[in-house]
Amino acid sequence: MRTYPYHSRNPDDPDVYHNHNDCPEGEKIPAGQRANGTNDYSQCEQCKDKG
Ligand SMILES: [Zn+2]
Repeated sequence: MRTYPYHSRNPDDPDVYHNHNDCPEGEKIPAGQRANGTNDYSQCEQCKDKG
C-alpha cells in the first residue's frame, strides 16, 4: 500500500527512497534507520513497479 516517502539512513544501503509500506526492500530497513522523505534519492525499482 502506498505511503509517505521514506529511506534508509544506513550509508551501506542503496540511495533510493520507498513509497510503499509493503516493499520487500523497504521492509528490510530497521525502524531506527528509517527516515522520512526522499532525501533527493531516486525511487526504488520495486516501488516503481507497484506504481
Ligand atoms: Zn521500495
